[in-house]
Amino acid sequence: MKSFLKSPMLWVLYARRWAVFLGLVLAGFLSVRAEGFATRFEELKRSLPKSELYRMLYAMPKGGDLHHHAGGCWRMEDLYSVATNRSIVGTNRFYTRIRAGSCNTDTNEWTRFATISAFQWSAMDECRRSEYAALDSLSPAQAREWMNSLRLDAPGEGRDEFFERIWPRLGAVGRDANIAAEMMVRTLQRYGAEGVRYIEAQTIPDLYVAADGSMLNPEEGQRILQRRLSQPDARASGVTLRLQFVVLRFTPNAVQRVEQAYDWVSRHRDTWVGINMAGREDNDKGHPRRFLEVYRKMRRQHSGIGLSIHAGEVDEPNAHMRDTLMLGATRLGHGNNVLTDDDLVLHLRHGVAFVEINLVSNLLLEYVGDYSQHHFAEMLRLGVPCGLSTDDSGMWDSGMTDEYLTAVSEFNLTWDELVRCGRNSLQWSFLEEPAKARLLAEYDRDIRAFEQRFGGDDVPSKLQAVKPVAYGFARRRWGIAY
Ligand SMILES: [Zn+2]
Repeated sequence: MKSFLKSPMLWVLYARRWAVFLGLVLAGFLSVRAEGFATRFEELKRSLPKSELYRMLYAMPKGGDLHHHAGGCWRMEDLYSVATNRSIVGTNRFYTRIRAGSCNTDTNEWTRFATISAFQWSAMDECRRSEYAALDSLSPAQAREWMNSLRLDAPGEGRDEFFERIWPRLGAVGRDANIAAEMMVRTLQRYGAEGVRYIEAQTIPDLYVAADGSMLNPEEGQRILQRRLSQPDARASGVTLRLQFVVLRFTPNAVQRVEQAYDWVSRHRDTWVGINMAGREDNDKGHPRRFLEVYRKMRRQHSGIGLSIHAGEVDEPNAHMRDTLMLGATRLGHGNNVLTDDDLVLHLRHGVAFVEINLVSNLLLEYVGDYSQHHFAEMLRLGVPCGLSTDDSGMWDSGMTDEYLTAVSEFNLTWDELVRCGRNSLQWSFLEEPAKARLLAEYDRDIRAFEQRFGGDDVPSKLQAVKPVAYGFARRRWGIAY
């Protein structure tokens, strides 16, 4: 024994054996507990009313939101208070159209609540000016209408309302860098409260307009964003943010924009991690093959820039998803028509790409009439890497918990499947190492803590301690309001 204690080599061997043994015991213990919680989760799914299930899922750790349009995920109540707060917007002021047609110009009713900056308003003639009201002078009822005009919350509103009206209505408030920075922080706080730990937001750097109407230098926009994101309340959200440069695929200069995106991301890698292409796929000017050469060219020059592209957000069967894989994407946004391409399904089962699932979006934009037509469960259960994301939660009036509750109630997801979705959404993110490894370790830790919390006794009082925030989508779909 004495000689053993003196031999460092034997110490190492002995310690290693114990570590392996303890590791096996621990792994066994955890798998028993996880299995135990999986059974408990099935019981809870059956017994809890929807509002209590929502409450529990609100508290669940959720990993990342990998399909997230920056302006589309803003909460409109927050946006109204931010855009009318002079300490945030500085000298910028906004006017919104409260009446259309009185001057015999631009009589489209939908342009009601299109919002412009003071410099645009000042350049109008008196009649047109009278159709607008200062955003901060709206009555509470008008302010409510303004917010509602920016979300899909009424029967009959669908794809055209979203693409052709809501985004243009956002107008000048979406192009103010101070508003964007503040809204980014509010979004991190909102998502952080429901257990999201990572967001990869789609936006562009050369979007911002100064109060006098001049284009803001993108570097200055970036500085405004960084300054706000480095403040303590942003950090306290517990959410890590990275950005993707999104190219509007059907525009005439889209190929050139891809080159600009690579250039920008390669020079701002601390925040920008990838490139996306978005925009209506039913506009055939944006078909994927148009971009094959430019992505090949860019790969000759750049390394390590993530590529996630909208694909299969269409009604008809087509080759967009497989063509998008040809472009080099490792992540596909939506993938609604995946099951119409047998070979593609076989490819995806080998884990070549991650499918970003957006359940609420696909229903509201009518890519599915109901969830029996949705490909999510088929993908997940065939072993295709997928995860849940929110797309444009502010415009849906929803949050990440709505995606989780939809997944559980429409596809009967098991605990293991839900956890897999969350873990995948970190694993397939474009976040750099070692930050990604840290978030994955924290996710595993938080899931274990969650299992312990709700796997024990007295679930009702633990549920009461959760203070969820539910929005209009949950109220309209499930009657949930707290
Ligand atoms: Zn999208």
